[in-house]
Amino acid sequence: MVRYVYDFTEGGRDLAGLLGGKGANLAEMTRLGLPVPPGFTVTTEACRAFLATGAEPDGLAHEISGHLAALEQAAGRRLGQPDDPLLLSVRSGARFSMPGMMETILDIGLNDDSVLGLAKVSGNERFAWDSYRRLLQMFGSTVMGVDGALFENALAELKRSRGAVNDLGLEAADLAGLVAVYQELIRRETGECFPQSPAEQLRRAVLAVFESWRGERARVYRRREHIPDDLGTAVNVQIMVFGNLGADSGSGVAFTRDPATGQPGLYGDYLANAQGEDVVAGIRNTVALTALAELDPVSYEQLLGHMRTLETHYRDLCDIEFTIERGRLWMLQTRVGKRTAEAAFAIAAELVEEGLITPDEGLARVSGDGLARLMFPRFDTSAVGEPLAHGLPASPGAAVGAAVFDSAEAVRRAAAGEKVVLVRQETTPDDLPGMIAAQAVLTSRGGKTSHAAVVARGMGRVCVCGAEEITVDTEARRFTVAGTTVDEGTVVSVDGSGGAVYLGAAPLVDSAVMRYFEAGERSGALVGAVARAMERADGMRRLEVRANADTPEDAARARRFGAQGVGLCRTEHMFLGERRKLVEAMILAGDETEREKALGALLPLQRQDFTGILEAMDGLPVTIRLIDPPLHEFLPDRTDLAVRIAAAEAGGAVPDPHDTALLDAVNRMHEENPMLGLRGVRLGLVVPGLVAMQVRAIAEAVVERVRAGGSPEAEIMVPLVGAVEELRIERAEVERVLAEVSAESGVPVRCPVGTMIELPRAALTAGRIAEEAEFFSFGTNDLTQTTWGFSRDDVEAAFFSAYLDKGIFATSPFETLDRDGVGRLVRIAVDEGRAARPDLKIGVCGEHGGDPESVHFFHTAGLDYVSCSPFRVPVARLEAGRAALPRTGTSDSR
Ligand code: ADP
Ligand code: MG
Ligand code: MG
Repeated sequence: MVRYVYDFTEGGRDLAGLLGGKGANLAEMTRLGLPVPPGFTVTTEACRAFLATGAEPDGLAHEISGHLAALEQAAGRRLGQPDDPLLLSVRSGARFSMPGMMETILDIGLNDDSVLGLAKVSGNERFAWDSYRRLLQMFGSTVMGVDGALFENALAELKRSRGAVNDLGLEAADLAGLVAVYQELIRRETGECFPQSPAEQLRRAVLAVFESWRGERARVYRRREHIPDDLGTAVNVQIMVFGNLGADSGSGVAFTRDPATGQPGLYGDYLANAQGEDVVAGIRNTVALTALAELDPVSYEQLLGHMRTLETHYRDLCDIEFTIERGRLWMLQTRVGKRTAEAAFAIAAELVEEGLITPDEGLARVSGDGLARLMFPRFDTSAVGEPLAHGLPASPGAAVGAAVFDSAEAVRRAAAGEKVVLVRQETTPDDLPGMIAAQAVLTSRGGKTSHAAVVARGMGRVCVCGAEEITVDTEARRFTVAGTTVDEGTVVSVDGSGGAVYLGAAPLVDSAVMRYFEAGERSGALVGAVARAMERADGMRRLEVRANADTPEDAARARRFGAQGVGLCRTEHMFLGERRKLVEAMILAGDETEREKALGALLPLQRQDFTGILEAMDGLPVTIRLIDPPLHEFLPDRTDLAVRIAAAEAGGAVPDPHDTALLDAVNRMHEENPMLGLRGVRLGLVVPGLVAMQVRAIAEAVVERVRAGGSPEAEIMVPLVGAVEELRIERAEVERVLAEVSAESGVPVRCPVGTMIELPRAALTAGRIAEEAEFFSFGTNDLTQTTWGFSRDDVEAAFFSAYLDKGIFATSPFETLDRDGVGRLVRIAVDEGRAARPDLKIGVCGEHGGDPESVHFFHTAGLDYVSCSPFRVPVARLEAGRAALPRTGTSDSR
């Protein structure tokens, strides 16, 4: 038979799934001999059964009465006993801590009779009525559904009429009067009286806590924290202890170390004559925990001892709740405390140093997400004023610059050495140069997965998007917000971690961690802690980490960040800007000679790009992807051209023949679904000379580097292959050109040729494809698009938030690799590819290569390397190290 109830003496921390974190830790503290008020836990399983059927599971009521009887027996009092009532708290507590998100009801067992008994035995009438009004308030709102504000208003009204500054200014008679008011309120609002039966109170309170799992607040919190919706909460029923019995009583919260910085030492707040929830509710000013040393030195010393016990036992920062009842200390809760990224690194290093945890455990306790946060500069929050506008914190960090309203202006000013913030309604791929030139991107539209957000994150640019309060007027070159006009050139500050924009230059605090990665500067405790984690991770990891870099600068930075090569060098930007004209000429070429001339003009420029990157990555592999996007992306916009021609015609002029020719070409090349059109390997197979030109540029760059005494290691990667035949033909062409250049130069050029695996068909026929490929690189962005049938640009803004709401996925599959679908294709391709070619090198070059969860998957799937943007390289190194840690099963980052 299933068992639904466990006494605190029976549980333990390893049962958090069943008993919830709070219940498991209450049991653990009980086992450690700490003073925990007795009680029992109703399991999450009971909650799940209740939520599924809407009814209390069979036998639950019976089990609860059995455990209650045992509590009563031990206490020598019955629940709600009129002359000396035993009172209970009924507390929620899920597997993962969800502070304040669900309900807790205190003082269960009070009614019109037992309140008098409580007044008598405690010798404190005020306390008894105060406890009763708290019960009415919590029970009334949580269990009976009365709007909590009504209770608050009545309390505020009473305080006002008594001239009381806070609740301590109210006397017993006032509170007795308030109890009557509350009871009437409940009757009026629900048509039902507050239940006088303690047993009924208990039963209904337990069910209400179950129910609170589904509350709005709890749901929103779970979504944000990626906590599954189907876990349910446990319910802890516990004997009440009272911090509101007078000046010798009180409640507090404490941390064993500073959760903000990780500094060792006591940290917390205490409130005399108060029940637990008052401390965090901010109804009165708390005092620092150290003040307790004066107020109650005995309890204080005991508390310090218990905190040491807990920290040594849990071997981590603990966060606790305690209550002192008339000089007697009670422990009400503990958990491994939440902390900032900075504290996580500092504490891990400190505990390793203290010998409390092993270096591996230290590594398990820090995270790539935390590291990423530490790498960005920040605003000095004590020095900034009110934000000008709010938006979504899309890409973290802090940036200051002059507002500019188009890409060209951003580029122009940046070239002149000015720092700029690109402000757009939303961005498009055409804004790319401006985004690169800008310190930050600010948009008035779009979500966290909008173009601006995704691209900015990829580049490590600060971004606030969807700042709907601002109106961007690109024509007039200004934006307005609540009556303030910000003209082009005005300096603004963008906080991508907090999602805020400030007028003027907010003071920045530099990231020491970034200086460490950039320049190897090793100063301060935090950097020391980060450095130790990185060293451990590098020692552990099996995955290599490369970077996606298209320029020598990016390649050099990636190398400083520890990249072991370039996993993806895209060549498309090499066709933009000035070079667009050459691309146009190639597309418009009337005959072979014209085309060859255009390609010939592109060749030296491409060669120069490659030489720079190969030099920056000398001695390390550089995987160069042949051109991928459809060629019309390099041509002017169709509508723009049509308008230009129409305008010329309307004005009686003859349209520019070049424009007409271009429009013809654009129309000819127009595609309904460019993502699935003439791109990738298909281009190489049908556009004559294109691949040959690119391969020649690569090969000549290799020759140049060899002659300069370098060790270039170029690898040639063919995109969007779906069939081995495509690769076979393309590869033959590649080999032909390589041989040609080798012969011409007398320098043997040998580049491994491989392919991207980014179509389901490629993954499913990977065994065949491996016959022609020396390496695979998963393009997980396209693979996700084609596996799900999602066009990323179309789906993210349109309905991803609805999908997240409906729980179809917990995170966007473009952010974290979808293990079940896309991941399965990856595994098939790895297995079959390696079966066909045992020395096949396999990596990933999609954005997922820098996503912590995805890195763990790639490790288990047996890849050789991940490749990500330069700024994510340290994150990937750290996570690759963490992925290689032996599984302990206890590490829990939430
Ligand atoms: P949360 O999960 O929101 O922290 P808790 O279950 O911890 O909710 O309870 C809310 C408050 O009630 C806490 O401050 C806690 O200390 C207090 N409390 C809970 N149980 C008891 C008890 N048995 N005696 C006294 N105070 C209690
Ligand atoms: Mg609590
Ligand atoms: Mg692709």
